[in-house]
Amino acid sequence: MKEKIYTIPVIDAFKEVTECPICNLYKKLEDDSIDFMLGPSYMEDDIRMETNKIGFCPHHYEKMFEEKNRLGLALMIHTHLQEINKKLSKVISSNKDFNVKTKSLFSMIKTSKNNTSNENNNPISSYINNVYNSCYICNRIEKTFNRYVDTFFYLWKNDENFVSLVSEGKGFCLSHFSLLLERASSALNKNQYNHFTQIVIPIQLENLKRIEDEIDWFIQKFDYRFKDEPWKNSKDAIQRSILKIASKQIKIEDC
Ligand SMILES: [Zn+2]
Ligand SMILES: [Zn+2]
Repeated sequence: MKEKIYTIPVIDAFKEVTECPICNLYKKLEDDSIDFMLGPSYMEDDIRMETNKIGFCPHHYEKMFEEKNRLGLALMIHTHLQEINKKLSKVISSNKDFNVKTKSLFSMIKTSKNNTSNENNNPISSYINNVYNSCYICNRIEKTFNRYVDTFFYLWKNDENFVSLVSEGKGFCLSHFSLLLERASSALNKNQYNHFTQIVIPIQLENLKRIEDEIDWFIQKFDYRFKDEPWKNSKDAIQRSILKIASKQIKIEDC
């Protein structure tokens, strides 16, 4: 089965002690993609043609900016801008009537930012909306990430050790818990789905309560009466709670 290629990273992610192994898988994919983007790949014609067209999302521009290869990033942005300037001029010149009628292009961009269906049919904001919402790195991650989710269910059905690994884990972040429940209904048959939910839902609820208690102890430690008590597991409870609730990984030294 094709999923077999992906089993090692999935099993490895579940072997780590974490609030969400799926977030870890996602983060590794994201780190690899940033390295890939700022490695020699951006000089390859076929990749640059794609990044010129698609560009990157705000989050991934920021991630790439945090890395060392500023020249590589500048080269990608330069040819992407050339493409934007060429295409935008073309769209604007072929929609001159619209251009005269439009009071505020900015307000149209703002309203269309959250509107992925481009309902307003305005070709200028439609084009800008596409540039704003598309990302070469997100697309690259998404492809492998979906395979990982397929592999999760492949392992769930075929590997008892993996079921034990998940059962001994700390559950998932809210978003990935929801994703797994959603995907389980199509990946598993009725019996398998019932078995899956009977195991995973109690683990999730138990671990959400556990983290609530850990953040509670973190707060109590600010009370002078508990000042000398041990931290237990609560020292990084804020970071782990944020990961659990919002899938956002914050480094311990940042807090
Ligand atoms: Zn997650
Ligand atoms: Zn992105």
